[in-house]
Amino acid sequence: MKVEIIKDILAANDAIAEENRRLFKENGALVLNLMSSPGAGKTTLLEKSISVLKGRVNIGVIEGDIQTELDATRISKEGVEVVQINTGSACHLDSNMIHQAIEKLDLSNIDLLFMENVGNLVCPAEFRIGEDMKIMISSITEGDDKPLKYPLMFRESQVLIINKIDLLPYCDCDLKRLKENSLKINSNLNIFEISCKTESGLDSWYNWLVKKVEENKK
Ligand code: MG
Ligand code: ZN
Repeated sequence: MKVEIIKDILAANDAIAEENRRLFKENGALVLNLMSSPGAGKTTLLEKSISVLKGRVNIGVIEGDIQTELDATRISKEGVEVVQINTGSACHLDSNMIHQAIEKLDLSNIDLLFMENVGNLVCPAEFRIGEDMKIMISSITEGDDKPLKYPLMFRESQVLIINKIDLLPYCDCDLKRLKENSLKINSNLNIFEISCKTESGLDSWYNWLVKKVEENKK
């Protein structure tokens, strides 16, 4: 019985996610769903990426948080369109929340839409919200065993960004093992090793983003 109820919820979510996707496609927006645990660096990576790319790419952001507008306020300082969703108690974004948020955005003017999910390593991976790709951020301070403990997040993602590599000398995280564990769960993962602090590795991430936006326009 319980399983049936969960299936119904996911089916209803998927139907609205398809509608979101249709709207994104119609408007030629590439949509990336950013997922990670709290504090892995989603918002900081967005701030950096937007500040470098905003002259070249039209960017919009949907911010998901249980409470506060802190992240939307940070992003709005970069001068791009941003909508904050406060989920109240929900620990993930769902397609209906996104559907309401996109009514507040001028999609025709957005080529790249980031959706920053609620910081959580479990259910964001279960809910499609209309994205082209899921992007997972895992930071060095979280250790190298997270792909094995939270496999669905890594399995559902097309890209893994390993952040805070400047902290490697101070942490017990084994970078090689983190990558091996991730690829064990999902051998197709495209992996970037970055530090938002030192800006190491960010150029290849920016180049990848621009390439994907251009491909999406064709
Ligand atoms: Mg954030
Ligand atoms: Zn949840």
